[in-house]
Amino acid sequence: MTEITPLLPGTRIGILGGGQLGRMLSLAASQLGMRTHIFCPDENSPAFEVTPHKTVAGYEDVAALRAFASAVDVVTYEFENVPLATAKVIAENVPLHPGPKALEVSQDRLAEKGFLTRAGIAVASYRAVNSRADLDAAIAEIGLPAVLKTTRLGYDGKGQRTIRTPEDAEAAFAALSGVDLVLEGFIAFQKEISVIVVRGADGVVVTYDPAENVHKDHILKTSTLPASISGRAADKARGIAGQIAAELGYVGTMGVEFFLVADGDEPEILVNEIAPRVHNSGHWTQAVCVTDQFENHIRAILGWPLGSTIRLADVVMENLIGEEINATAGRSVTGVQPHVYGKTEARPGRKMGHLNIVKVPKP
Ligand code: AMP
Repeated sequence: MTEITPLLPGTRIGILGGGQLGRMLSLAASQLGMRTHIFCPDENSPAFEVTPHKTVAGYEDVAALRAFASAVDVVTYEFENVPLATAKVIAENVPLHPGPKALEVSQDRLAEKGFLTRAGIAVASYRAVNSRADLDAAIAEIGLPAVLKTTRLGYDGKGQRTIRTPEDAEAAFAALSGVDLVLEGFIAFQKEISVIVVRGADGVVVTYDPAENVHKDHILKTSTLPASISGRAADKARGIAGQIAAELGYVGTMGVEFFLVADGDEPEILVNEIAPRVHNSGHWTQAVCVTDQFENHIRAILGWPLGSTIRLADVVMENLIGEEINATAGRSVTGVQPHVYGKTEARPGRKMGHLNIVKVPKP
């Protein structure tokens, strides 16, 4: 293990991205006595509310990026689509954690699947698709149903179409073509689970318990702990997440999403996606772990030892989408930890806050 000199309270942490994840990272950093500076093009970013230091500028604005880098001691990010050129400008001027490799791999589904496959980690069968003819060839090899996805910039189900019959292929291709695509075999999974993994600057890797995730309209609705899976499946998922963090030489918190295909003595688990950042399915850690995913991310990028990931109670994290926020805020009951992101407009499909509903142990 490498000997690291930890950065001290008062350290200025730059965060690229001003959404709720940046906001919660900033709050965690403040708790440790750090100062945060948020860089985001959108003036109404929720993270701007929690720190006085901000830059409102585009990610292509090199002068603004350089000025930002010179105003902080270390930089991190809250979303995986930070342009590589942006990451490069930052990394030339100040330490950037996680490093550009994690961005490169996770921004492109083909690069990600290639990386995972080379590491011996199972993913759904896939083929690159750059033309209508490629799609037919990919369908012939992979079979149907299958899922056609853009290789870049897909999230919450955007940029993907399920192809169930050969007749669906035309419409799916028409809807997505013009950019690089990938066809994936459709996985008839038992459950979707995810693991939050953190790797420290010294190479120490810790993982949290796997969460069982349910999506509604392609958006994460709940993460339930414990997941109703075998201990073997949980160990396997945690092991894979740790392996990914180690192979990337990662520093910080990362979310790894899995499809659990079969449980039992020899569980079959495929990686769906990796997110090189704190992750929505890890918000439950705020309520039931001594050190949550946000604090552990900050600890990692500061070169601090990582905190305990042990889960102290059962918990359900429920996302509040759109108008749901108004029905819930101010009405929380014992055992429910509300988080409200402070977004001004409750648009449909927008993540506005979440509840951590803790199964409080009886006295
Ligand atoms: P993604 O954007 O790749 O995370 O996909 C969003 C959601 O679509 C996943 O959480 C799954 O519920 C579903 N999905 C994605 N890819 C597949 C697949 N190959 N087979 C079955 N379901 C999928």
